[in-house]
Amino acid sequence: MTVSYASTRGDAPELDFADVLLTGLAADGGLYCPVEVPPLPPLDGCDTYAEVAARVIWPYIEGSTGSTAAYALSVDEFAAMVRAAYDGFRHPDVCPVVELGDNHFLLDLTTGPTLAFKDIALQLVGRLLDHELARRGERVVVISATSGDTGSAAIEALAGRDSLDAVVLHPYGRVSDVQRRQMTTVTASNIHNLAVEGTFDDCQDLVKTAFADHTITGRQPAAVNSINWARVVAQIVYYVTGAGAVAPDGGPVSFSVPTGNFGNVLSGWYAKRMGLAVDQLIVASNRNDVLTRFLDTGRLEARAVEPSLSPSMDIQISSNFERLLWEASGRDGAAVADLIAEFRARGRAVVPDGWVESIRAEFTGTRVSDDETLDEIARVHDELGFLIDPHTAVGFVAARRLRRDPAVPMITLATADPAKFPDAVERATGVRPPLPPFLSELFDRREHYEVVGNDAAAIAAAIARRLRGSSPAPSGQ
Ligand SMILES: *Cc1c(COP(=O)(O)O)cnc(C)c1O
Repeated sequence: MTVSYASTRGDAPELDFADVLLTGLAADGGLYCPVEVPPLPPLDGCDTYAEVAARVIWPYIEGSTGSTAAYALSVDEFAAMVRAAYDGFRHPDVCPVVELGDNHFLLDLTTGPTLAFKDIALQLVGRLLDHELARRGERVVVISATSGDTGSAAIEALAGRDSLDAVVLHPYGRVSDVQRRQMTTVTASNIHNLAVEGTFDDCQDLVKTAFADHTITGRQPAAVNSINWARVVAQIVYYVTGAGAVAPDGGPVSFSVPTGNFGNVLSGWYAKRMGLAVDQLIVASNRNDVLTRFLDTGRLEARAVEPSLSPSMDIQISSNFERLLWEASGRDGAAVADLIAEFRARGRAVVPDGWVESIRAEFTGTRVSDDETLDEIARVHDELGFLIDPHTAVGFVAARRLRRDPAVPMITLATADPAKFPDAVERATGVRPPLPPFLSELFDRREHYEVVGNDAAAIAAAIARRLRGSSPAPSGQ
């Protein structure tokens, strides 16, 4: 059976994985979701993270050829790609589990090349994209918006790949120095950093505009943001390995997930849909708490984005939430399209009671302030003797606050290494976390980026200039 994918707004053709990978946003503005959610495959004989990943992800890909070719990826090719994706991670378990006491565990998602959890999906997605484009003989522009970590993880995953140019928009002055330098010090000529004079939500809107209006990138763009289904599916894996590590008998576990765009915790929800025994899924927010307020009130209401100590979660419009709304609506694309239109037009929308109830049955959420974040970093340092980053600290506070049953193992996802946010960590503990040796020269390297205004025309002009400069002009057409 080959899984097909439908748009959350119900008005775009169903596609298979190979096409969804390249399509990004659906033609009706929706996000692609699997129509059939495959059950968790048996994992006997899997010894490594890569082996589990190949097994868990494969049913979502198997048999997909895309609309343009009659060749499908083989399971062996895919397994090799997965091995290559996770080979360079700094821990042999890829996502190791650390026991904290009180049946509370940390799932460390920070052992990849950019020290944040987005590496886990993007190292694989970069390879999948490159393979698919090479097979089709196509070249694309990948455009993405980043609140910090996506950008560097995407750049690490895409630098030097022949099949694509990568344009990365970040909010000017609103990402940490380490985050910016991880993006802007990469020298590959297919990487283009644009610093937009606006917020992350502005960057995300500009990317959405680029998907609707192909003149901005000059051709149909591809996406590696978490609107790309391949990201979500790659993240299902560590929920499975994390649960297996703390509850080898298959008993239920709970997860606390530092949340911004709702991609990470959505992957946990899909793991549960596949059959993983999950008790609680906790949405941990900073002061940009649109999802927590939704769980409290049943209303979606965006407010202005406020900078926090956990900038990768400074988001008020969580794109991936639309995928959950679609499922909660009973897959009523027209109703989702209406709701999103209302939300976009007025900044608020009332979600039907039945949908709210079904979402509340699966998720709880809480908001964690900057002061509480700093206190938690200090407490963990004092009591456990190690440093955590501000995003992870938000997850820790939420886990302790919302935990229902101490007999169920609680797993908090560590989404960034403390060295990415040294100022907050130093403020909380007096200890400045050092960058790992392989990044120690980050502050000596030259940066490459361009500051652009917060409008589509400025972005289009910058991209046109950059692509003319870096790639040969198309010949003969
Ligand atoms: C991206 C990111 C998050 C938020 O993840 P979502 O999938 O957007 O909810 C949390 N923490 C860190 C460090 C991140 O980079």
